[in-house]
Amino acid sequence: MARPIVIGLEVHLQLNTKTKLFCSCSTDYIGKRPNTNVCPICLAVPGNLPLINDAAVARASRMGLGLRCTIQNYSNFHRKNYFYADLAKAYQITQYELPIATRGWLDIESDGKPKRIRIHHLHLEEDAGKLVHPTTDGRLHGAAYSLVDYNRGGVPLTEVVSEPDMSSPAEARDYVTRLRQLARYLEISDGEMESGSLRVDANISLSNPDGSFGTRVEIKNMNSFRSIEHALEYEIVRQNKVLDAGDRIIQETRLWDDAGGVTRSMRNKETASDYRYYPEMDLAPIILDDSEIDGYKASMPELPWEKRGRFAASFGLSAEEIAILTEQKELAAYYEETVEAGAPPARAANWVRMEVLRVLNELGGDITTFRVKPASLAELVLKVDAKDISSTVGKEILDLLAREDISFTEALKRVGASAGRLTGGALSEIIGRIVSEQAEVADIIKSGQDKKGGKLKFLSGLVMKEARGQADPKEASDILAKLLGL
Ligand code: ADP
Ligand code: MG
Ligand code: ZN
Repeated sequence: MARPIVIGLEVHLQLNTKTKLFCSCSTDYIGKRPNTNVCPICLAVPGNLPLINDAAVARASRMGLGLRCTIQNYSNFHRKNYFYADLAKAYQITQYELPIATRGWLDIESDGKPKRIRIHHLHLEEDAGKLVHPTTDGRLHGAAYSLVDYNRGGVPLTEVVSEPDMSSPAEARDYVTRLRQLARYLEISDGEMESGSLRVDANISLSNPDGSFGTRVEIKNMNSFRSIEHALEYEIVRQNKVLDAGDRIIQETRLWDDAGGVTRSMRNKETASDYRYYPEMDLAPIILDDSEIDGYKASMPELPWEKRGRFAASFGLSAEEIAILTEQKELAAYYEETVEAGAPPARAANWVRMEVLRVLNELGGDITTFRVKPASLAELVLKVDAKDISSTVGKEILDLLAREDISFTEALKRVGASAGRLTGGALSEIIGRIVSEQAEVADIIKSGQDKKGGKLKFLSGLVMKEARGQADPKEASDILAKLLGL
């Protein structure tokens, strides 16, 4: 019988504050010269006192509220001791006994059904520096060496710790996806796995026959959503093999090797006592009175699930459409403004989903810098809807507007279409010209020799091409038939 899978995740989010958690150094470390965003506080020079950054407290509180946690009136910091070169102080300042937010939940989807994942707590802590490994022969004066860059040391993190409520790699992936979406809606973190502003430690175990939890393994070093799923899938197979062979799972930390597609043992999992946690006496506790917490509550934007509910109620779109449109709140806002500018909701949804996202993808940009403003898109959608222009012409116009700084009218001209739809006299004129240019073909049709209708098709093809899709095909074929005496 298959052993039930138990997964709990610890997700670190780098908070997008301007300065570090306990000093005024810049948090902007990517691509910076090593060891330039540092000061005596984050380098742990004795005699300097850390001071909490209120902006980080606010961001962690907002994330806590988004996860329906209780924000604590009183929380404090501990020192987590470990000796490694990326940590200047040889301890990390973190929240341990009394974290800032406790007991919440995040709803995910599992096989199309909603599932609630409980959040154990969320806490604040500082990031570590980075080791830089030499790319040459790896030796200095004959000895192996690494370099250390402390620019990232002290950048604020919030760690979200889930209960072990997930039971498949797909659920774990959906959980992280939704957690990141929430962080982005709240604008507290950019949540990019590639650059490391979102990092996931995955704990996984297989339950015993009596239903009790098995020994868990912690997996680190996954830097994409796909690798979270792959690492967990690999680990399920590995643990099953170990147990099938009658062996025991060792509680340890394993690293995901993306290229090899395997997890490898890194170290036996430290227990809390290995870290010798003790209170950080240099920092005052975080005291938030109810009015401050109410202030954070009042500052909450519409959250992803609230927006999805409202979109379903007001625009009558399918769940799939809504999921795409609300994936990013900026895209959702763009869509809503297009509707407010007069585009019918269902048509606007199609255009944004299919065409706007296509063009954004081609241009490699994002919606906030997209040239075509909602009002222009609405105008376009309305013109296509009124059959003033065909949808093909509409797409060409969108392509032009997205790439060049030109007006709607200019774009319309450039794709060869005039302002109005081709009809009546204007259309007859075009058809008349084509019939006289193709006199020989026309004669064959007129004399009844076009048995299979191929020649007539050829002529209507020319007409539609010339009209650039602006003519009603029925009207065009009626005029053509009349001119050819059919
Ligand atoms: P530690 O203090 O060692 O980090 P925690 O109790 O804080 O351990 O748990 C860390 C994470 O491990 C949590 O996300 C939790 O849900 C998860 N976890 C705990 N027990 C198990 C288990 N048996 N299987 C899978 N995950 C687990
Ligand atoms: Mg932990
Ligand atoms: Zn500093």
